[in-house]
Amino acid sequence: MDPILAQFEGLVEQIRKNNRGANLERVREAFRYADAQHAGQVRKSGEPYITHPLHVASIVAELELDTDSIVAALLHDCIEDTGSTHEDIAKLFGETVAGLVEGVTKLTRVQYVTKEEEQMENLRKMLMAMSQDVRVILIKICDRLHNMRTLQFQPPKKQREKALETMEIYAPIAHRLGMQRVKWELEDLALQYLDPIGYKEIEQDLAAKSSAHEEFMASVQKRINDRLAAEGINATAYGRVKHIYSIYRKMYTQNKTMDEIFDLYAFRVIVDDIPNCYNVLGCIHDLFKPVLGRFKDYIGTPKPNGYQSLHTTVIGREGIPFEVQIRTQEMHHTAEYGVAAHWKYKQGLANGSLGSEETFEWVRKLLESQQDTDAEEFVRSLKVDLFADEVFVFTPQGDVKSLPAGANPIDFAYSIHSAIGNKMTGAKINGRIVPFDTPLQNGDIVEIITSKNAHGPSRGWVKLCKSNEARNKIRQWFKKERREENIATGKVMLENELRRLGIPVADVVSEENLPHILKKVGSGSWDDLCAAIGYGGMTAVKAGGRIKDELARLGKLQGAKAPAPLPQQGGMIYPGGVGGGGNIPGLQKAPKHTESGIVVEGLGNCMVKFAKCCTPVPGDPVIGFITRGYGVSVHRADCPNAQFDHTDAQVAGRWVNVAWVEGDLESYRTALELTAVDRDGLALDVATVLSTLKVKVSGLSARSMEDATAVVMVELEVKDKTQLQQVTHKLGQIHGVSTVKRVTG
Ligand code: MN
Repeated sequence: MDPILAQFEGLVEQIRKNNRGANLERVREAFRYADAQHAGQVRKSGEPYITHPLHVASIVAELELDTDSIVAALLHDCIEDTGSTHEDIAKLFGETVAGLVEGVTKLTRVQYVTKEEEQMENLRKMLMAMSQDVRVILIKICDRLHNMRTLQFQPPKKQREKALETMEIYAPIAHRLGMQRVKWELEDLALQYLDPIGYKEIEQDLAAKSSAHEEFMASVQKRINDRLAAEGINATAYGRVKHIYSIYRKMYTQNKTMDEIFDLYAFRVIVDDIPNCYNVLGCIHDLFKPVLGRFKDYIGTPKPNGYQSLHTTVIGREGIPFEVQIRTQEMHHTAEYGVAAHWKYKQGLANGSLGSEETFEWVRKLLESQQDTDAEEFVRSLKVDLFADEVFVFTPQGDVKSLPAGANPIDFAYSIHSAIGNKMTGAKINGRIVPFDTPLQNGDIVEIITSKNAHGPSRGWVKLCKSNEARNKIRQWFKKERREENIATGKVMLENELRRLGIPVADVVSEENLPHILKKVGSGSWDDLCAAIGYGGMTAVKAGGRIKDELARLGKLQGAKAPAPLPQQGGMIYPGGVGGGGNIPGLQKAPKHTESGIVVEGLGNCMVKFAKCCTPVPGDPVIGFITRGYGVSVHRADCPNAQFDHTDAQVAGRWVNVAWVEGDLESYRTALELTAVDRDGLALDVATVLSTLKVKVSGLSARSMEDATAVVMVELEVKDKTQLQQVTHKLGQIHGVSTVKRVTG
């Protein structure tokens, strides 16, 4: 028989055995069509091209996917490499198959030019997001698997590129989808090209000792089987040497030789039901000595990708440690095939199409019952990946940008830089000029046209854009145009500077002096002058200097005082001042109540934010810094970032007095750092104390230091300094804790 036909009949035979319910007539038609389309084309191996789609279809069938997937696998290179169009395929094989083939084609066209890890993650996400139907990515992975199996026919440069892409993009995707078998094979194939010497070393070492390995595994297997038979448990046990890349990674990350690798072997025991998993575990722990701390119950707490098993590491008579994984048949199937396995279980449903939210209900259900934070993260990321909350596009340089779904060139421009957005005059998608509000599609290459003479964003853009980043940056641009606010901040800055120079504001704004002064500084009005300072167009120092010169020229400079430092009001506000609560004397007219609980001298109730470096809480001596466009940033008076040079007027002028008043905020976020003797359960004790005190905790992390101490960072919310002191005191009493301090700077 013709070898191609023989290969096809082999596929048919395989499908007949594994894929009950498959429509073989459609498979046959797809083969005939693809064979005709690829006629005359050859692979680098010299084989007819059609052998490749046949192999890919066979891998797809092995995953027990449905007829549409097998048909699409046979046709997967038709759009890319033959004259077929989406319409042709849709007419002959239906819209679903055409959609799958088109999806695989799009993934094939994505160009990888990038190397950074962050970019890799975005690329993985992009590929998953582009595969609106999970079957697309599954077929693509099968395609890649066959290409990797035949990579020896490619030139070395291409081998390296494909191997790297496989290791960085496709193996992690296979892992995320829970397809362990495929992931292992991809990793081992990729490693052969990425580090041929390292791969060979391990391969040869394993081969040299293969009879010893076989003997060891056979003896362990026999002991397990005998024991389980004696207990009357129906089970299959077998051993294997772990896959090469997993050994390789352990050797290189832990800097160990082959002989030092802990658990080179993995044994599997497959049983009928969950109770028997635990029964088997008991037997194993009775037969062999368990290694402490190595037991993991992934049945009670499945891994984020749905993996379930009991894991334990034990040591046999020979003194060799090995891992035993215990699971049911169904868990085993899921472990091997992941999402694809699930597809099989859903096949009975009328609408078994993947890519719908519903599909991942199983993952969610699986995870709902547990507190594993990883799991939540996984559901979130899977959702992002597959249901496209995000869109991934390329810059002309090939970097991947992630934007919210529905984003357009405006969002893209601002995600690069606000200056790009503000100077944007046009946009191109895949080389074509498009309107600014054109929604971006995954894989688009987006280019922004800018001009020095651009007039800046239009007000309508705020509504057009989809990302907060763009919205904020556009608002910021308009904020600069917001005169009133600029006047208010500029006024505070100028008054501060005048006070420093010992010039009464009244002298400056008097009817008789003001016109001269305005002329000197080149402003049309007092408000114009303040706005210019608030906007940053002129510094307060420069304005102050000119005002002083002008008053001197007019002979109006009273007493010509030496520049005075900022007044030490109440002695509490400024660094070096004596601490304590209280009011700023100059603030009598200030509101007694503000949203933030802070009043700013001269501005009263204005936009206030608390500095992240020192996170002040009510009761702390504080000081404010006038930012450009972000209101007043409040620091603790002793914060290193608030220590400024009083003689540098330009800096000093932007620091203002602030004080605590009654506010609407019920709690203030702050942070503590604990140093302690490193021990188990330390973080737990910290968490317990905090929960006893009913403190709201927003972050807790512990890390071990080299000197056997540990540093615990706690982010928490408190009402005021008194409460914070109570918390500090209680935390200090925890066993082993040596210091508890505020986080500053
Ligand atoms: Mn292909």
